[in-house]
Amino acid sequence: MRQIIIIGSGPAGYTAAIYAARANLNPLLIASSVEAGGELMNTTEVENFPGFPEGIMGPELMMKMQAQAERFGTEVVLDDVTSVDLEGEVKTVTLGSGAVHEALSVVFATGSAYRKLGLADEERLSGHGVSWCATCDGFFFREKTIAVVGGGDSAMEEANFLTRFASKVYVIHRKDSLRASKIMQDRAFANEKIEFVWNSEVVGMTGNEAISGVVLRDTVTGEERALDLQGLFIAIGNDPRTHLVHGQLDLTSDGTIAVEGRSSKTNLTGVFAAGDVIDPHYRQAATAAASGTVAALDAEAFLASLPKDLLAEASADLQLTTTP
Ligand code: NDP
Repeated sequence: MRQIIIIGSGPAGYTAAIYAARANLNPLLIASSVEAGGELMNTTEVENFPGFPEGIMGPELMMKMQAQAERFGTEVVLDDVTSVDLEGEVKTVTLGSGAVHEALSVVFATGSAYRKLGLADEERLSGHGVSWCATCDGFFFREKTIAVVGGGDSAMEEANFLTRFASKVYVIHRKDSLRASKIMQDRAFANEKIEFVWNSEVVGMTGNEAISGVVLRDTVTGEERALDLQGLFIAIGNDPRTHLVHGQLDLTSDGTIAVEGRSSKTNLTGVFAAGDVIDPHYRQAATAAASGTVAALDAEAFLASLPKDLLAEASADLQLTTTP
């Protein structure tokens, strides 16, 4: 049995691990089998994380966070959590490999997943011209006409990045103004390869083997028209990843895990949540890292309040499991 298990390997998870490890809690961090490091692994340059005046590439930042967590004794497991049982004093976390881990406290830092448009052809054309990750797939669209859907920072970042490859990038947005920050907007407006398609939503996709166009509906007049393109990048936000805790943890009306005030405490004792999975609003690497800090401190205080024999049991079991 562990004192603490952290689920998730974005800035919230790794920061919680750094704090928990430095508090001698020997954390186990479950980092996902497919993509450890979370959303920043799909980002190019991160210019707003403090401490990097020249900016830093998203994947490099996440590798540094992992190294820092491991330096103090965090054990990182590259696997997916398939189920959790959070009731009771001892929580269980089951992994895709079948391994079952027990802990006295659990921190959920599971982040959020790309939102989909919800169109019939979206899944079929996914990987065939439809993508959610410009840094992963942009390379395939050299000298092509493509579009990005969305009006937030992600859409602007993707659109700007994609102009390195594509000959033309439409930004399709359902309103006539952007939600993105001023600096990101200005960069996109100044980019000659980017053309904005305002007040338009994508209501259909065409193409057999690969996408060949989209059907747009004007959100003001209701008129529909076709737009030919060879690639579509969807950047319309994210939804918190809460599927593991449905029926166990309370959620907010935004779909995030509900926490008590500014703490990370969920409705279950010993269960904490941090990062994008509790934050429908700010969703920055820096705010996620701060949130991970809060979760580790809350978990540490909770563990300190437990009977000494229970903590000793967790430490003793750890000695047993880590002895070769
Ligand atoms: P946001 O929620 O900020 O923006 C989502 C955009 O997609 C909005 O413009 C929204 O439209 C639109 N949208 C949502 N659902 C649909 C839909 N079904 N159909 C069409 N359009 C839709 O998400 P982001 O991913 O852009 O950003 C998330 C957070 O991450 C933000 O806090 C952002 O600042 C941050 N971020 C920061 C970056 C940076 O600073 N370098 C880079 C990337 C993200 P509407 O405006 O009408 O609601």
